[in-house]
Amino acid sequence: MWVVDLHEDVITTIQGERSLDFGQVCPHLHGDLPSWRKGDYKIVVGAIFSLRRHWGTYLSEDAIKHVLRAAEKTRELAEQFADDLMILETQKDLERCLASNRIGILLAYEGAYELTDVWLLRALYRIGVRILGLTWNVSNLWATGASDPHDQGLTPFGRQMVEKASDLGFILDLAHASPRTYADVLEMDIRPPIVSHTGILKQPKKTRNISWDVTRRVMEKGGIVGVALARLFFEDEQMGFEDLVQTLTELLQAFPNGLAVGTDFFGFGKEDEIPGIERVEKIQDVVRALGQAGVSQKTLEAWTHENAIRYLQTHLPAT
Ligand SMILES: [Zn+2]
Repeated sequence: MWVVDLHEDVITTIQGERSLDFGQVCPHLHGDLPSWRKGDYKIVVGAIFSLRRHWGTYLSEDAIKHVLRAAEKTRELAEQFADDLMILETQKDLERCLASNRIGILLAYEGAYELTDVWLLRALYRIGVRILGLTWNVSNLWATGASDPHDQGLTPFGRQMVEKASDLGFILDLAHASPRTYADVLEMDIRPPIVSHTGILKQPKKTRNISWDVTRRVMEKGGIVGVALARLFFEDEQMGFEDLVQTLTELLQAFPNGLAVGTDFFGFGKEDEIPGIERVEKIQDVVRALGQAGVSQKTLEAWTHENAIRYLQTHLPAT
């Protein structure tokens, strides 16, 4: 069953591994082109992440250059594997992709840290970025991030920029935002935001995850929510494959029309891998197990691709 994945940190990986051959199986990574094929991925959102300095591993170049380089590297990859990959910017591209045998890559920017002026927003849009995360875990000029205990939500500047971004045609992504940032953005009259990769719990303890109530509100606005497939998103350090299937079954029963896949592959460490889904292609094992657990074919199709495609067909720019 084919898959649209709303979040993979594949671009950061490609940028970091200079001699990587993405056309070969790369066992030390979460995936590669042959494994995307094996896992039946049709669209992958590739996130550009510019906060590597936060971990002390920042490259010796300024952040904007880093962002440009990431976007360019992704285009180079799509050119190198032109029979297999294409970049998606518009609904027309999406149509072409769905009619072809190629995997579409949508560019996202995770955390608007460098976007201190409207011209930067416009420039980012012009180089093909279509999904924009307001924050990563750390707060910025726009809004409070998930790990900041002083939750002030959107700033006045952030509110203006969110409006401009929505007008320009960006899809806004609330993953990594603080609870108040969620609440503030969900009250705005803008194109429905998405949550690209998150855990969904009835009462989440970690602010990186969201509650069923917030999930419902995002969906009521017309947004979709990508379920991440790593232990940190389930708050259970011993999370196993069976627990994952049980949790997903419950979620799919509660939210059949708004859930999507947002794996976060390439973006988490070994300690957060759930046994049985350590690599991209193993998503098909999860789909099979969910079917055996009684989840209908229709609900599985909605989760793996239909909800995401419906959203993208509506909210990507037409041309
Ligand atoms: Zn993330």
